[in-house]
Formats: sequence, C-alpha cells, structure tokens
Amino acid sequence: MNSIDIQKKDQEYIANTYKRFPASLVEGEGAVVRSPEGKEYIDFTSGIGVNCLGYADKGWADAVSAQAHKLQHVSNLYSTQPDVEAAEKLCRYTGFSKVFFGNSGAEANEGALKVARKYGMEKHGEKCNTVISLKNSFHGRTITTLSATGQDSFHQFFFPFTEGFKFVDAGDIEGLRNAVDETVCGIMIELIQGEGGVVPVDGAFVKEAARICQEKDLVFVIDEVQTGIGRTGTFLCYEQFGVKPDVISLAKGIGGGLPLGVVMMNDKTAGVLGFGQHGSTFGGNPVACAGACYVLDKVMKPEFLEEVKKKSEYMKKKLLEISQIKSVTGLGLMLGAELEEGLTAGETAGRCVEEGLLVLTAKTKLRLLPPLVIGYEEIDRGIEILARVLRG
Ligand SMILES: *Cc1c(COP(=O)(O)O)cnc(C)c1O
Repeated sequence: MNSIDIQKKDQEYIANTYKRFPASLVEGEGAVVRSPEGKEYIDFTSGIGVNCLGYADKGWADAVSAQAHKLQHVSNLYSTQPDVEAAEKLCRYTGFSKVFFGNSGAEANEGALKVARKYGMEKHGEKCNTVISLKNSFHGRTITTLSATGQDSFHQFFFPFTEGFKFVDAGDIEGLRNAVDETVCGIMIELIQGEGGVVPVDGAFVKEAARICQEKDLVFVIDEVQTGIGRTGTFLCYEQFGVKPDVISLAKGIGGGLPLGVVMMNDKTAGVLGFGQHGSTFGGNPVACAGACYVLDKVMKPEFLEEVKKKSEYMKKKLLEISQIKSVTGLGLMLGAELEEGLTAGETAGRCVEEGLLVLTAKTKLRLLPPLVIGYEEIDRGIEILARVLRG
C-alpha cells in the first residue's frame, strides 16, 4: 500500500480519536524512519518516548524474535524466564523490592493508585483513600487516571469520574501541607510534567512531598512513565531529585517499542497487593519482557546514560542557537522548546513533517523526545530542518 491508500483506510476504519499528521511510516533504523515512497524523516519523537533504542535495533529485534519463536504467552498462572529476569534487573538497579507487570502507563498508574489506597485503608482506616495529585499533571486515559490528571480539559464527557483526588499547584509547598488531612493516603507526582509542557517540578517541593509522606506514613508515588528508562539522563528521573519514592510507575521506554507497564514497590509497599487483588492477562508478556531485558542491559550502563546527558547538552545548545526559540526546558532527551510569539507549536510540527522531521507538541511548546541512541549527525540534520521551518 502507498501512503494515500493507508491514510484513506485509516480514516475509513479507525476511530477518529487521533489528529494524525499526513504521514504513513513503514520502516526505519536508529533515528530515521521512512514512508512507503521512501521519504525520510528524522525522528525527534521515539513514538512518544517509546523507542528508546530507535527503530529496529538489531539486538533488540533478535531478542524479541527469539522469544516469539520459543514462547509468546503463558498466562500469569505460570512463571517465565524473561519476566523474572526483567524484574530482577529492575529491582537490583533501583533498590525497589517487587514489580507488577501490566501493559501501559495508565495501567501502571492504576496499579500504583490501588497500592496507595489499600495501604491507606489498612494503616489508617476506611476513610483514608484520597490521593493528592498536581495541577497540570497527566497520568493516563482510563477513567481513574483521567481523574488523577490535574487538567480540567480531561474532566469532561465521561462522568461520573473516580472520586478521591485533590489537586495542588506544583511548587506550592504551603498548599501541599494544607491539603494533607486524615483522608489522604498518598501523593502522586510527575517530576517533569510532559504532556503539561515539559515543565520540571521544583526540587524543594518534591523533597517536601517525600518528607510529608515519610512523616505521615503516606505512599509517595512517582509517575516515571515518560521520564524513566534513561530519558532524562539518569535511569530514573527521581535520582536527580534526591528522593526515594515508595511506588513508581514505568511504561513507554521500557519495552523498547513493545507494550509493557510496570508498578515498582519498595519494602513498605511490596506486600500491599495480595493474591487475587490485582492482575492483567497480558501483563508481563514474555516477548515484551525479552525486549525489556535487552533495553535494560543497554540503558542501565553508566556510559550509555553519560552519552544521553552529552547529547542533551548538545541538543539544548543547538536549539538555543535558533533565534525563534526563546527557551528550552526539560532534562536529558526530554526537552521542551518555547517558541517566539506568533509561532504556534501545532503549525510548526505540521511544517516539520512536510520537511522531513517528526516532533511532538506539549501545550504551547515543541516537545522533543528523540531516541536515546540518536547520533550527533542526526541531531544536526533534525535541527537544520527545524531552524529552516522556524525561519519561515
Ligand atoms: C504517556 C503517559 C501516561 C499514559 O501512558 P499510556 O501508556 O498511554 O497509558 C501516564 N503518565 C505519563 C507521565 C505519561 O507521559
């Protein structure tokens, strides 16, 4: 099929929930992806922070296909080697005690919220079930994770939403202290608000949230769905904030392109969910976990993470040399570019696609999440296109 055929069938048969760019993609390698007609795009998106090793990484594809040839699924009534290996790597590296595997970020956050609520109920009584979340956050698209998302635009149409969330402004330490009462069982934070505009949350505020959770015996949840797996230059973003969460959620990058979500629990929370209290048919799929093992072996290497930091510095510098970019926010290869007045992120992204560069938007900013393995030459090619588009 050519691009036009694919786009026609897409419009005819696939639900209209995505405003798609007029580009169909068939193959790629590294940070380059192509249309059926062979048009090349430099990829500053990685899916949305998913393809951390780029397109069709040879070692990853071999690991995944070898597993698919052996055993593609067994149900969670039995154990498999890729699952326990991925879980062990995650726990050993981070110091967390146990993992629960699901399939997506929203599902991981649902799991994290169940842990927080059950912990609160058991430790502090039936009424202790409110989770404090931040304004401008994003936690997913299920009814409960929409409820946890601190943006009014997501609280429409699908009433009644799940109860039990309170919102405070990121950075408002007084507001956070005031929001904590005997009904609160946990605090949930995204350290860099990705969908919210690539906005890092204030470090002192994050430390205070951790301190309150410690003092009041609440569950401190960090949503690392987008920031995790090397994206910000450390394996997990919280390492740079000097805090230790009780629960984290992971997804996007961990499978290297296959669906996998993870809830990680520390000693305090690892025992909360018991037999029959949580589950997922596909969760911990051995093919996805075989991909994850390969990704983790690569990304957990200090040299690999050092490279992410270097590329981050390089990319930030290059972006700031473009006069139409007013500022750059974010950490590692999760960057937001604020555009000069008169330029809109949506239009710019559309023009970039025409010119052969894939970029994302977040609120009024361009959002850049290139594969962690992107080469300097590919960064240069992408930035050149972006500069050309912004010059108009
Ligand atoms: C993408 C994202 C989610 C939702 O992940 P899905 O896999 O789309 O369900 C949740 N939290 C954050 C911070 C995200 O960036």
